[in-house]
Amino acid sequence: MIGIEPFVFPGLRSRVIFSHGTVAQTGAEIERLGRKRALVLSTPNQKADAEALAGRLAALSGGVFAEAAMHTPVQVTEKALSAYEASAADCVVSLGGGSTTGLGKAIATRTGADQVVIPTTYAGSEMTDILGETAGGEKTTRRDPSILPETVIYDVGLTRSLPPSLTVTSGLNAMAHAAEALYAPDRNPIVSLMAADAIRALCLALPAIARNPDDRDARASALYGAWLCGAALGGTSMALHHKLCHVLGGSFDTPHAETHAILLPHTIGFNSAKAADLLAPISQVLGGTPGVVLFDFAASLEAPTKLKDFGLGEAELERAADIAVKNPYWNPRPFDRASLLALLRDAWEGRRPPQ
Ligand code: NAD
Repeated sequence: MIGIEPFVFPGLRSRVIFSHGTVAQTGAEIERLGRKRALVLSTPNQKADAEALAGRLAALSGGVFAEAAMHTPVQVTEKALSAYEASAADCVVSLGGGSTTGLGKAIATRTGADQVVIPTTYAGSEMTDILGETAGGEKTTRRDPSILPETVIYDVGLTRSLPPSLTVTSGLNAMAHAAEALYAPDRNPIVSLMAADAIRALCLALPAIARNPDDRDARASALYGAWLCGAALGGTSMALHHKLCHVLGGSFDTPHAETHAILLPHTIGFNSAKAADLLAPISQVLGGTPGVVLFDFAASLEAPTKLKDFGLGEAELERAADIAVKNPYWNPRPFDRASLLALLRDAWEGRRPPQ
């Protein structure tokens, strides 16, 4: 082979179990880690599932804490830490999406608890050493080895209850990780293979799930893609797309998966002017210019397309552009305040990106 650029591959560090019905292996995985008692975490929405799981864990369960919330508010973490100590647990089981995984990470990095994560969305947080926490209305994000979950149990059956709209936006959220991994400055051949296969799997699976949310094979394919997307996110540094989503979510409280879904065609369309070769897996699967085909793909799945539907106005777009240019960071295509504002306005209006 010719033309291989220099790279560093840091390895894949989590144990992953993937199939239908794998939630039944939770107890065995806790024991495999040498742990004796798990606090089971969830959001209020998934409390019944968390309680059922805790019941099945019997003596391995230290109870349920079901107050996980979006963006990992520190006051929720403090309450969860009290529950963790009171239950004499030595590990956590996080059953849910990125919000629940975030809470498990916040406990683990403060206590040394091991984490068994059972993801039920496609957000991908379970494969990363990244934790974003909010306190006093500000979101701060950090990376640390103590944040990375030890074991991830993917149970396809648990994703079948994911509502169709969240399936689509969460799937596009996952694809955003893979898309930015393709041009990441610290990309490597393994991550690029994972990202390309993740995009292929999700592009096939999401339309099939939209037609039939109970399609077992499509659900498996989407969760497989989401795993690879999470691993790509964990293995590389993200750029403009994730930065803008972080600004909008952190400063204007826009919903996580929907924000990713709306911005994706615009940010990838913007960057494809400088990274078209690297983004070829998107063009190959969807058949066209990356920004345009991602926009049409999202629209075909009836994903939200307009930032204005979140109640943002011109003043918020201006402020978002200000915040986004404040601390410079790497992006394949240089940008300034004016170009970001133009991009945000397109996403606000829901305009199809230029070819
Ligand atoms: P979420 O975890 O907030 O879940 C959204 C809602 O869907 C919740 O009410 C949840 O209980 C419910 N839900 C989840 N799975 C379900 C299922 N299978 N059936 C029915 N209902 C279900 O949303 P999310 O998009 O998964 O996660 C968003 C959060 O994750 C944000 O805070 C984001 O910052 C974080 N995140 C972090 C990373 C990271 O690497 N640190 C990566 C991605 C996302």
